Amino acid sequence: MTLNKIAEQLVDAKGGYAGIVKQGQIIRLTDVEGKQVIDFVVFNNDDRREKLSASYSRSRYFVEPGSEYLPRNTVGEGDWLMSTSCRPLMTIIKESADRKGVHDLHHRMCNRFMMNNMSGVDEDGCHEIIGKAIAPFDVTYAEIPDPINVFMNYPYDLERDGFFINEPITKAGDYIEFRAEMDVLVALANCPEDSSTACNGGHCTPIKVEIFEDTDAEQFPVLDHYEWLHQELGKRGRQVVKTGL
Ligand SMILES: [Zn+2]
Repeated sequence: MTLNKIAEQLVDAKGGYAGIVKQGQIIRLTDVEGKQVIDFVVFNNDDRREKLSASYSRSRYFVEPGSEYLPRNTVGEGDWLMSTSCRPLMTIIKESADRKGVHDLHHRMCNRFMMNNMSGVDEDGCHEIIGKAIAPFDVTYAEIPDPINVFMNYPYDLERDGFFINEPITKAGDYIEFRAEMDVLVALANCPEDSSTACNGGHCTPIKVEIFEDTDAEQFPVLDHYEWLHQELGKRGRQVVKTGL
């Protein structure tokens, strides 16, 4: 893999970002000072009706034949971010934190209502921050899907029947890398919640966004929803009738 950096941007505490990542390119999100959550959403850039599905992503249907099927609460290195059409938008190719897979795919986003209601603070939450960042791409507030909350430490407690919002485990400089499996539009919010939970360790800090192209990357055709599912089933020895959707 030969990486060539093509973009870099520092996103201020409580700031947002949106941009295109082409198939085969890699986006790296770095927690500059540590303990900072990043709400991250993805769209198929050729048809933005297809977008991130947190539930398809954590359901992890595409296990290797013979392996245990293990749906999880989260995703980690090697996992796909799946779309609402159940095909991969991006692959998590690297995580540097001591413990991998500490991300949340259950919580939606903080928003202005939550900030007022829980924190008594009248400021934008992640939903508004992403909405403003992505507006130049003609995506509206209502179209933003459930995110992957990168670095959010959100374990479920069976006895309590609820989630804990713990401090992130990330240290200064920890990062995660996603490779685009098709041309995607990504948007993120540098989570602004610093009043009522430990989500960001009580102190919001900047993040760094970098985009790389891999000059050794193999280019491959992006298949439509049906072709892709049939290819994956074919790898598993299943020949099924194409019924169309
Ligand atoms: Zn937030």
